[in-house]
Amino acid sequence: MSESIKNITQIISTLPETVQLVAVSKTYPAESIAELYDAGYRVFGENRPQELKEKYALLPKDIEWHMIGHLQKNKVKYIAPFVRLIHSVDSLELLKVIEKEAKKNNRIISCLLEIKIAQEDAKHGMSYEEVSALLNDETYLSMQYIRIDGIMGMATYTSDTAIVKKEFQTLKNYFEQLKAEYFSTIETFKEISMGMSGDYQYAVESGSTMVRIGSRIFGKR
Ligand SMILES: *Cc1c(COP(=O)(O)O)cnc(C)c1O
Repeated sequence: MSESIKNITQIISTLPETVQLVAVSKTYPAESIAELYDAGYRVFGENRPQELKEKYALLPKDIEWHMIGHLQKNKVKYIAPFVRLIHSVDSLELLKVIEKEAKKNNRIISCLLEIKIAQEDAKHGMSYEEVSALLNDETYLSMQYIRIDGIMGMATYTSDTAIVKKEFQTLKNYFEQLKAEYFSTIETFKEISMGMSGDYQYAVESGSTMVRIGSRIFGKR
């Protein structure tokens, strides 16, 4: 059995059934994905639209592709025909482009709103206030080709687990507030995408419904 299959099997055995594992395959070749595919895994995450499009073309069409990284507006077109979930919506302007490209492809694209919980400048994401403003915006309210299924966030990269736990708890609280205020009758608003190789256990403790794990499955990049 390959290392990656061993690793993913081990990780899944520790996850509650309510948590979906997104295998983050960025930088790894299509063959590495095919190995896991042959073992039954179907949900993969990438952070570069062109790379995602190339791998989509090479691999079986029943893979669920998730876009997890920062997405530039001019690159939405590469993934709009097939992407299953965009985790990283960080502006209304981006959402407008996704709406337009989804319409062109005559499909509804599910999205998560990325909220910044980390202290690092390098991390993307909106503030809670920006998310509220987006959800109250007329243009957003008239969109027909996107669906907001939840939120996503990344914790600070630190060995101080107290900080990481606090940030995940903050994201969980944001989710509950948004659910109550904007999505109380919308059953599909249910995802909290948080947790990576180094911190997913804490994310799960705080109520994550989706963990995005790469290096712990495929090895060092
Ligand atoms: C690369 C990446 C991950 C996975 O990182 P690992 O540490 O390899 O598990 C998760 N989320 C995002 C947004 C990423 O870019």
